Amino acid sequence: MRELICEHCGSTVVAEDTKCHRCGIPLPPDHGKSLQKKFILFFVAVCLFCLFMIIWLPPDWSPFLGR
Ligand SMILES: [Zn+2]
Repeated sequence: MRELICEHCGSTVVAEDTKCHRCGIPLPPDHGKSLQKKFILFFVAVCLFCLFMIIWLPPDWSPFLGR
């Protein structure tokens, strides 16, 4: 069982729970995976941003190569 922190009251909840046992607030159905999903979305966004910058601004590597 994976333990998570309730965003509302800060108490420990289990990933399988549907609501917080302390404050009774309903937990999102996928709250156990939300952090992972957010991380993947962030990673994809960073990759897209890098790709966009490479295409938009052709890199000039000369300062790094010392020429
Ligand atoms: Zn709570």
